[in-house]
Amino acid sequence: MQYTEIMVRYGDLSTKGKNKRNFIDRLGFNVRASLASFKNLDIKARRDRMHIQLNGESSDDVVARLSQVFGIQNFSPSIRVEKDIEKVKATAIEMLKEKYFDGMTFKINTRRSDHNFEYDTNELNNLLGGAILENIDGIKVKMKNPDITLRVEVRIDGIYLSHETIDGAGGLPVGTAGKAMLMLSGGIDSPVAGYLAMKRGVDIEMVHFFSPPYTSEQALNKAKELTAKLTPYVGKIKFIQVPFTEIQETVKEKVPSGYLMTIQRRFMLRITALLAQQRKGLAIFNGEALGQVASQTLESMAAINDVTTMPVLRPVVSMDKNEIIKIAEEIDTFDLSIQPFEDCCTIFAPPAPKTKPKIEKARYYEERLDIDGLIERSIAGVKITEINIGDEFMNKDSQVFAELL
Ligand code: ATP
Ligand code: MG
Repeated sequence: MQYTEIMVRYGDLSTKGKNKRNFIDRLGFNVRASLASFKNLDIKARRDRMHIQLNGESSDDVVARLSQVFGIQNFSPSIRVEKDIEKVKATAIEMLKEKYFDGMTFKINTRRSDHNFEYDTNELNNLLGGAILENIDGIKVKMKNPDITLRVEVRIDGIYLSHETIDGAGGLPVGTAGKAMLMLSGGIDSPVAGYLAMKRGVDIEMVHFFSPPYTSEQALNKAKELTAKLTPYVGKIKFIQVPFTEIQETVKEKVPSGYLMTIQRRFMLRITALLAQQRKGLAIFNGEALGQVASQTLESMAAINDVTTMPVLRPVVSMDKNEIIKIAEEIDTFDLSIQPFEDCCTIFAPPAPKTKPKIEKARYYEERLDIDGLIERSIAGVKITEINIGDEFMNKDSQVFAELL
C-alpha cells in the first residue's frame, strides 16, 4: 500500500514535564537532519506526536532511517483518508486484505480527537468491523491478542489508518544531554561507547589521534569511516584529527618504556580536555573496559585520569568483550573495526607496559618533557571536518588488500 504519513510516538519524553518542549524541538531537528535526503517530506513535531507526511517518498526507506533516531518509542506508517465513511471502509478492507492469511483475527481500535465527526468510536468500530467481516472471507474478530490491530484515528484534517507499530531506537534525542568529546580509535570499543553516549542524548564530537608517517592515511580514513557509521543516529558528526607524532616520538625517547603508554594516554586526555573546553564540551567519553588490556586496570585509569577534572565516562567499562562485539555488530561497526590498520598506540606500544602505574611516577617522568609546548604544537595542527550520512573514506582496493593480510 502507498502510505501517506508516518506517525511517531515519543515515549519517554512525555514524562519530562517542563523540558518536554525542548525534547520535542530537538527530536524534530534530529529527525529532519536524519531524513534530509528525502526532499518531499513534510515533518511536524507536535506536542503529543510527530507526523511525517511522505508526499510520495518510499515509506520503507524512511522507516529504515527513522528507526535509528534516538528518542522515538515507536511509529506507524499510516494512510490518510477523507472523512467519508465509505472511503474509510474501502481503505480498511484493502489494508487487511493485503495482510490476510488463512484464519487471521483482527480488532479495530478507534481514537477521536475530532469530536464533531458524525460517528463516535463505538459506532466506527462497528461500522468498519462489519464491513471487513462482510468483505474478507474467513477473517474473525478477536479482542485479546488478535493477529492484526487496525488503528483508526479521527483527526480534524482526516482519518488515519494503520496496522503496524514499529519499535523505535528508544533513548533520548541526541543533544538534549549536552555535548561531549569521544576519544575514537580504530578499535571495536570506542565506536560502541560513542553509540551508547548518543543513545542517552549526548551530542558527541570525535577526537582521533594519529601519527603520520607511522600510521597510514588508511588508518585515519578508517576512523572517519567509523564516524560515518554513527552519523545516521544524528545526521552529522564533527571529526577532530589531532597530530600525535611529535608527542609519541618525544615520550618514547625520554620516558622509561614501562610508562610510555601511561604518559601517551595522559597527553591524549589533556588534549581532549582542552578541545572539550574550547568547544563547550562537558565531558569526555572513551571505550575503556575494565581488565581488557594493560592500560585498562583501575590503577592505570587513575594514573591517566590524573591530568583532568573533567568527567571521563566509560559506557562499556563493565561489559565483556562479547557484549561489546554484539553491539558493534548491531551498529555495523564491527567489520570495519577489525580491519588491520596500524593505530598510533599499537606502533608505540611498549613490550611490557606497567599494569599498575603510579600517579607520582607518571608525574615525575613528565617533568622532563615540555608538556605545554608539545600540546600547543599538537593543537595547532588539529583539523576539523564534518562527516555526513553516507560519506565514504576507505579506498575499496586497500580494503580488499587489508583482508588479504
Ligand atoms: P578500542 O577498541 O576503542 O580501540 P581498546 O580496547 O583497543 O579500545 P585501547 O587501545 O587501550 O583499548 O584504548 C582505550 C581507549 O582510548 C579507546 O577506547 C579510545 O577511547 C582511546 N583511544 C585509544 N587510541 C586512540 C586514538 N588513536 N585516538 C583517540 N582515542 C584513542
Ligand atoms: Mg585500541
